[in-house]
Amino acid sequence: NMRNSDKPLSNSITETNVSEPPSKKNDAFIKKFEPSDTELKDILESSDSDTELKAKADAVRRRIFGDKVYIRGLIEFTNYCKNDCFYCGIRHGNNKSHRYRLSKEQILDCCRDGYGLGFRTFVLQGGEDEYYNDEIMCDIISSIRSESPDCAITLSIGEKSRETYKAFFDASANRYLLRHETADYDHYSKLHPRNMSLENRKRCLFDIKEIGYQVGSGFMVGSPFQTTECLIEDLRFLQQLDPDMIGIGPYLTHRDTPFKNQKNGSLDLTLKLVALLRLMFPYALIPSTTALGTIAPNGRELGLKAGANVVMPNLSPTDVRKDYELYENKICTGEEAAQCRGCLEQRVKSAGYRIVTDIGDSPNFKNRRI
Ligand code: SAH
Repeated sequence: NMRNSDKPLSNSITETNVSEPPSKKNDAFIKKFEPSDTELKDILESSDSDTELKAKADAVRRRIFGDKVYIRGLIEFTNYCKNDCFYCGIRHGNNKSHRYRLSKEQILDCCRDGYGLGFRTFVLQGGEDEYYNDEIMCDIISSIRSESPDCAITLSIGEKSRETYKAFFDASANRYLLRHETADYDHYSKLHPRNMSLENRKRCLFDIKEIGYQVGSGFMVGSPFQTTECLIEDLRFLQQLDPDMIGIGPYLTHRDTPFKNQKNGSLDLTLKLVALLRLMFPYALIPSTTALGTIAPNGRELGLKAGANVVMPNLSPTDVRKDYELYENKICTGEEAAQCRGCLEQRVKSAGYRIVTDIGDSPNFKNRRI
């Protein structure tokens, strides 16, 4: 009577995949774990601690990335949003949210601070704020570029037209993060108002990829009404998109949303999914997210041990941090950028890894270009 944890996971992640020493030559031979739906359901619904899964994920990440952890400086530059996603604390309908916008100069200051601290990727994230039209956004992007020619500029500002994505790319943005949130059409409609659609979200992601960005997607774990089947669809969609970056985190509740009485997602399920993602997408850049650090004090360390290889500390000015409140109890809202950087250095080290300051382009993307 075998427990799930005792069953071999699959022939596709055997010793030969993970036990050889790292080298440029055999990097190319790391096979993707390609589980069946039944296998996925077994893994996702088992109640054990997934020690074997996480160990395999860590072995794969070490073979490709060693003990490197890439850092990205997150600049949350506006919490105005025209959308009304039911789970999100900065949704348009939340009139208790204290709204702010950063000016171009403020954003450039964040980048300058970040550069001095070793950051070579800046992530501009925000609500869907129409104040930042194409002209303003392109000016911000090219200004960052002229000050930091050796940095990656990542955008995470939601759904736009193909033309707008192209304009941002031409202004020299390199990467775009847009979580699909859920790949199940019915589930999508339970998390979003009727004017938003999974179809458009997917269209955006394929446009972003075709234009030439490094593309990131992902989903929340344990969002209201999510089932195992939803999660399987999430993984299948990601296989179809083949993203360079995959961000996941537990759903966390917010008092001023329609989901205020819903439960938080689970730490264990999120970690299990991080491990699965590493095995299914060996070359992906996978952050150990702020939401993971919020649900458990050592959540980000556990995320790294389960296969994540990126951390994204906050570079936003301290006085606006509390206002970018996607969910309650968000961590690191009090510290200065330098403090966050120092704190993370220690945390990453204690987990057994090492922060590097490389630009950290996606190996998946590089392979696509050759
Ligand atoms: N407007 C941008 C950025 C959204 S915020 C966009 O649409 O892409 C970044 C991510 O935070 C979202 O994609 C979502 O997955 C996550 N998020 C939002 N509300 C959350 C909540 N209550 N709990 C956990 N994660 C949440």
